[in-house]
Amino acid sequence: ALASLIAAEKLAVAGRISASIAHEIKNPLDTVGNLLYVLRFDPAVPEEALSLIDTAQSEIVRAGHIARSTLSLYRESSAPMPVLLGPLLESVIELQTSDFVKHNIHVQTRVNAPRQMYGYPSELRQILINLLQNAAAAIGANGRILVRVHPANAGYSLTVADTGSGIDAAHRARLFSLFFTTKGEHGTGLGLWLVQSLVEKHGGRIRFRSRTAAESATHGTVFNVWLPLGSPVERPGLTAIASDGGTLS
Ligand code: ADP
Repeated sequence: ALASLIAAEKLAVAGRISASIAHEIKNPLDTVGNLLYVLRFDPAVPEEALSLIDTAQSEIVRAGHIARSTLSLYRESSAPMPVLLGPLLESVIELQTSDFVKHNIHVQTRVNAPRQMYGYPSELRQILINLLQNAAAAIGANGRILVRVHPANAGYSLTVADTGSGIDAAHRARLFSLFFTTKGEHGTGLGLWLVQSLVEKHGGRIRFRSRTAAESATHGTVFNVWLPLGSPVERPGLTAIASDGGTLS
């Protein structure tokens, strides 16, 4: 199960990276394409250059097509939709229950999330999977994970707290960096980087607090994610659902 989760995580990261590259090259491509178009009909351009311009134009069109299809591939899942965090959380935990039981890790959930939020279900699931996997890894065996969700500031606060090893002070600043891992060949260093970028995609924020055994008898780590209820603007038919919140932007 872990191998397939890591594979899914790598795929998601690859998707995000290629989408951001595609986005970055789309504008310059358009600029060059426009310039070539103008040149093509400029009487000052010598005859023998015209076929080169034709070739350049069709290559630019081809590159633009690749960039656009990469973007749309990534966007396939990208209409925010109504999500209930409670059931989503339960399904993620259920998936990992056997791992938790095997290592005597007790997971407690306290969920108070009656309202739908708008988001990307598979990405919200990925956020939870990664935080839970990290928590379990930091515990190893025999410990507790507490997952809490409650309403906060026109959104939800999601907390994943573990009784694990805690994070060395020297590592804290690099935690969200791409490829930062302390797990050697068992780690990818993609997990938290991805979590952070998915949280940002939702317009949310992520923070953590951590104490190692050297720092405190009650060692462990608390990750806190705040997610806005989200704007249903793109779904005019559902505006009524959001209008009772008042604070949706
Ligand atoms: P990976 O899990 O592949 O190492 P991550 O980006 O998910 O990559 O995590 C980076 C590092 O952050 C981990 O190697 C670990 O040292 C640290 N870390 C993340 N979550 C926790 C946690 N709950 N407790 C202790 N350390 C953690």
